[in-house]
Amino acid sequence: MNLIRFSALVCLLAGVIGCGKSEPSPVDLNTEILNQLPEGDREIAINQWSCVVCKELLSKEGAPQKSEKTGTPVFFCTDECMAEFEMNPRKFQSSLSQ
Ligand SMILES: [Zn+2]
Repeated sequence: MNLIRFSALVCLLAGVIGCGKSEPSPVDLNTEILNQLPEGDREIAINQWSCVVCKELLSKEGAPQKSEKTGTPVFFCTDECMAEFEMNPRKFQSSLSQ
């Protein structure tokens, strides 16, 4: 009986903790930040919505950074992510062609 009660408690705790963290999703984008981008860029950034390097939301760290190193515009949440991409664009190619 005690074991059942213990498992129920563990399940309850896991449920509570599970609720706290959520995967980033396009609805969480900060449109106020994205509105600072030029119109064409804004559309691309919204379609892309997550940083190809770290998978965080593009609006997480302020206005997204744009790279056209591969010929098509790609957006990143920070300069660091953009630098990482530009050092080795091929590494992230699979995330781009989705
Ligand atoms: Zn990033």
